[in-house]
Amino acid sequence: MTLRISVIGTGYLGATHAACLAELGFDVLGVDRSAAKVDALSRGLVPFHEPGLDELVAGHTASGRLRFTTDLAEAAAFADVHFICVGTPQQSQGTAADLTAVFDVAAGLAPHLRHSTVVIGKSTVPVGTAAELAATLRARLPLGVEAEVAWNPEFLREGHAVQDTLRPDRLVFGVTSPGAELVLREIYAAAIERGTPVHVTDLATAELAKVAANAFLATKISFINAMAEISDRAGADVVALADVLGDDARIGRRFLDAGIGFGGGCLPKDIRALAARAAELGAPSIRALLEDVDDINLRARDRAADLAAAMCGGDLDGRRVALLGAAFKPLSDDVRDSPALHVAAALRRRGADVRVFDPAAANNARAVAPELTYVAHVDAALHDADLVVLATDWPELVALDPGRAGALVRSRRILDGRNKLDEEAWTAAGWAFRALGRAAAP
Ligand code: NAD
Repeated sequence: MTLRISVIGTGYLGATHAACLAELGFDVLGVDRSAAKVDALSRGLVPFHEPGLDELVAGHTASGRLRFTTDLAEAAAFADVHFICVGTPQQSQGTAADLTAVFDVAAGLAPHLRHSTVVIGKSTVPVGTAAELAATLRARLPLGVEAEVAWNPEFLREGHAVQDTLRPDRLVFGVTSPGAELVLREIYAAAIERGTPVHVTDLATAELAKVAANAFLATKISFINAMAEISDRAGADVVALADVLGDDARIGRRFLDAGIGFGGGCLPKDIRALAARAAELGAPSIRALLEDVDDINLRARDRAADLAAAMCGGDLDGRRVALLGAAFKPLSDDVRDSPALHVAAALRRRGADVRVFDPAAANNARAVAPELTYVAHVDAALHDADLVVLATDWPELVALDPGRAGALVRSRRILDGRNKLDEEAWTAAGWAFRALGRAAAP
């Protein structure tokens, strides 16, 4: 019989996971406390931008294999297995993770369970959460019903979420029994048959695997941004430097793009939560490292604002700036902790008239930064600009034609905040071209 699975929390992670499980042939019920989200998804509409997801959600809601509800009791009655995919944002006061949603789900689900089940955590959580969650569940289960907790962290990248979910690099099964491992092996049978490596671990290692991966990636980005700073002082070129480092197979070129740094709903809050958890556990080394990584990351945004001012003669007051990109990364409409919006706000504070263009994220950006001006077409941002800033490396923005853009602006000045533009082509078209880490930035 086909396994029936509930996916609780249907945001970027959960909606993708639910749709991909339906694609793999399971009967899936997505649960979210947001009635608006459930309503949209039930009608086959994805309320955020994720390439390839619309087709999956539309197709599988139409076939009936994928349904959505706000009701945890319905999920308890329907599913053999439950995934927890709710948000674990940074606490409003402090840097630790806010786990309210995770524990609310466990407390809300447990009393409705009528048969023994596995509750699989997918949200990113501080190490130790799974064990606590198991105790929360146990305390609320009806007599004779058992619920085992497993942890199966998710490594998907926004913008590539469908592909990453259907064809993951590796699978991590944090379990406390062979039974839970078997359930996970059944769910991921297609990927396992294709040879995807499976790491079966204890709960704590599985929880740590996710935050350690994010901490490592964040460290790599901050490392190259620290090298960008010294490159500027020393007259070196951080892109050439990254190419040299990247050819070392032990290092690799990915995540060595200097620029305005990382953002989004994961890396910043995950490294802060890990640092906070490390402090609680008395593990000072990772805490100290990650605090520096965070500082370097935020400093890169400020350095970009300084460079923008320097390019305009030291004064941004009244200058019109075309800020290209608002999402924290290309192919996404996610603006959580977006470096692009941080830079835009810094330029505005210095008196610039900032016009923001993003191919997908303008609505989300407007909701969090309504004080900025958003335009619907890149040409409207470029029109009469004194300075252009590439803040998110969307392919269509990286592919902008310097000649055509030059005809629209007032002054041909461009700051490549992502080190992705072809410097030669822009300079040949008469642009003053600057980028962090490519000599003589402040
Ligand atoms: P999100 O904010 O897009 O989605 C979270 C969803 O949970 C929302 O739809 C919200 O309404 C719902 N929710 C919150 N409380 C609930 C409750 N009590 N009951 C039911 N639903 C509830 O967040 P996201 O980006 O999908 O992240 C979810 C988790 O996955 C986080 O722990 C995150 O760190 C992790 N993660 C995210 C990504 C990513 O790329 N976005 C990748 C890997 C892991």
